[in-house]
Amino acid sequence: MKSHTRVVVIGGGIVGASVLYHLTKLGWTDVVLVERKQLTAGSTWHAAGGFHCMNSDPNMARLQAYAISVYQEVEEISGQDVGMHLTGGLTIAATQERWEVVRYEHEKMKVLGIESHLVGPKEIADLCPVIDASALVGGLFVAEEGNLDPSGSTHALAKSAKLAGAQVYVKTMVKDLVHKPDGTWTVVTDQGNIECEHVINAAGLWAREVGKMAGVHVPIVPMEHHYIISGDIEELTNWDSELPLILDPDGEIYLRQERNGVLFGVYEKKSTPWSVDGTSWEYGENDLLEPRLENIEEELMRGFERYPAVAEAGIRRIINGPFTFAPDGNPLVGPVRGVQNYWSACGVMAGFSQGSGVALALSQWMINGEPEEDVFAMDVNRFGPYASKAYSVEKAKEFYQNRFYLLCPNDEWPAARPNKISAFHDRLQQANAVFGESYGLEVPLWFAPEGTEPVETPSFLRSNSHGPVGEECHAVRDGVGILDGSSFGKYDISGPAAEDFLNRLFASRLPDLGRIRMGPMLLPSG
Ligand SMILES: Cc1cc2nc3c(=O)[nH]c(=O)nc-3n(C[C@H](O)[C@H](O)[C@H](O)COP(=O)(O)OP(=O)(O)OC[C@H]3O[C@@H](n4cnc5c(N)ncnc54)[C@H](O)[C@@H]3O)c2cc1C
Repeated sequence: MKSHTRVVVIGGGIVGASVLYHLTKLGWTDVVLVERKQLTAGSTWHAAGGFHCMNSDPNMARLQAYAISVYQEVEEISGQDVGMHLTGGLTIAATQERWEVVRYEHEKMKVLGIESHLVGPKEIADLCPVIDASALVGGLFVAEEGNLDPSGSTHALAKSAKLAGAQVYVKTMVKDLVHKPDGTWTVVTDQGNIECEHVINAAGLWAREVGKMAGVHVPIVPMEHHYIISGDIEELTNWDSELPLILDPDGEIYLRQERNGVLFGVYEKKSTPWSVDGTSWEYGENDLLEPRLENIEEELMRGFERYPAVAEAGIRRIINGPFTFAPDGNPLVGPVRGVQNYWSACGVMAGFSQGSGVALALSQWMINGEPEEDVFAMDVNRFGPYASKAYSVEKAKEFYQNRFYLLCPNDEWPAARPNKISAFHDRLQQANAVFGESYGLEVPLWFAPEGTEPVETPSFLRSNSHGPVGEECHAVRDGVGILDGSSFGKYDISGPAAEDFLNRLFASRLPDLGRIRMGPMLLPSG
């Protein structure tokens, strides 16, 4: 085993393997991955392997769309079959409201350059002969979606990295991390120590434990998740095509073909957080959880109605496995604030959709000093100490239960709130404020007219905030108003070079004395 290297990636799941590959792809080849068991020994081996572009955040959606080219690339480089089934993906709408969302997604994908098209019930039935499309309004078909083999894809990434010079050490467990005064690390493993400049926590189900080794709180919660494999379905047995990956948000299920049957995944409303106090080192490799049929019954029954052929085929196998969620369901990526050279690649709840994007952004960040895309949605530092265990559990449950819900603008979810309130929260409440959450703090978004409920009805169209917000804008433009800036960071910058410094830091010039100005801060590269 190497005793010195530039980077140690801890964890050989789909995320760790993707990170290792991207570091080599971008030019850092003196890099090592350490895995305590075998590659895929966490959440990765029992995943359904589906990949798709759907995400409320457009930047995340774009990064998810990037994944497919990576799988094709590493299959070519490594010669390792990734088991690609490029079937296309279909998101279906059973209500007018969902249809609006699907149409919005279609427009968003156009902007992102992701090819997609709207389809009606007849086309849906042609694409998916096991569905009863009679109750559907329509759907969105995205060509570059499908599923792959979790093990094949992880090994292809690792092998491609190795061919570029990386090392992969399996059956090697990281026991401790020692931060040295110069900011570099000693990675203590059961096979010896490795000195390195950077460590990356890609430990998936054990990310919290690996976080603790460096005094880092990782606000993630593993959640139990079920899918079933059906028996053979007549309609599929002699069919010369393959089902697309189907996301059925109204049914809270997803579906893809598995040989002559289907794999049918359930985001159950009766969600179950798992190992809330920490993941046992004993868990893993081939372990699965006891199925909780009573928790998935409702969604299964709904699914059987939509896919009657699946009900007839019966259940061949039930899988229940854990995977991790950050409070808002997006990954935790980047340099951990205050801990030099410690990087996070955790909380990736859709490793096959998101792993490549996470790895690309992280590698750019490490090598070039900043990622090329706006990655705020997955910046590890978007959560602070307020994201306690209790908070994270409540939020992870909320996200899990609303997995297929696309957030509208000003859509603020209620779990674990209020968390922190400002000193004049009561007065804002009296003024009929509609609140949102910013870094754990309740902040006023807008003020509802007197005598009305201070609640926003989220919508992709004009919501009930439109009129009142317009009035607020006119009021401060023509008169005077107060803006609650409690949730903004405040810096006092003084000294003879302060003005030049700020003019360089901001995209705008400083305002005249006595005025205020809103301006974006620039990264070092501009
Ligand atoms: C039932 C189910 C179905 C799913 N289906 C899909 C799907 O269709 N599509 C999709 O995109 N996602 C799916 N997922 C989610 C997906 O499995 C995860 O997003 C993904 O596996 C996370 O990968 P990871 O590399 O972050 O973590 P993990 O797979 O948990 O890997 C972490 C690795 O780190 C190693 N490790 C931990 N601590 C140490 C240490 N101290 N020293 C050395 N090594 C260590 C572990 O042994 C493990 O191998 C599914 C999950 C479940 C449970």
